[in-house]
Amino acid sequence: MSEARWSGGCLCGSCRYEFSGDPLHAGYCHCNMCKRATGGAFAILVQPPLAAFKWTKGKARSFSSSPIAIRAFCPDCGTPLFLQYDDDELIRVTVGSLDHPNQVVPRTHYGVESRLDWAEIGSDLPPEETRERF
Ligand SMILES: [Zn+2]
Ligand SMILES: [Zn+2]
Repeated sequence: MSEARWSGGCLCGSCRYEFSGDPLHAGYCHCNMCKRATGGAFAILVQPPLAAFKWTKGKARSFSSSPIAIRAFCPDCGTPLFLQYDDDELIRVTVGSLDHPNQVVPRTHYGVESRLDWAEIGSDLPPEETRERF
């Protein structure tokens, strides 16, 4: 088992990752693509530098989820693991896949135009609309 502060992986254990440093940001995303990708009401994503992220076991499979981004998931169990925009030096890791998700504090709401009426969480955080629609 790794002792890295930031580590995580998928449900079946085939894919494991670590990243170092302090992530710059974490937030909720309410966009409809994140709903589909996670099967949930919203995604919660934490943004370490791509250069700080590495696989320690297995490797996710990725697909183009929009003209400007890929999403990655475990090829064995399907756990969503990250979203990455083209040419972005940050990677957006799913907080639910972290070993210690309680270490992350979401700071913003993105994609609020698609926020579900009953998704009442972090209501004091600043909202932002997406630039990309699904
Ligand atoms: Zn898996
Ligand atoms: Zn989203």
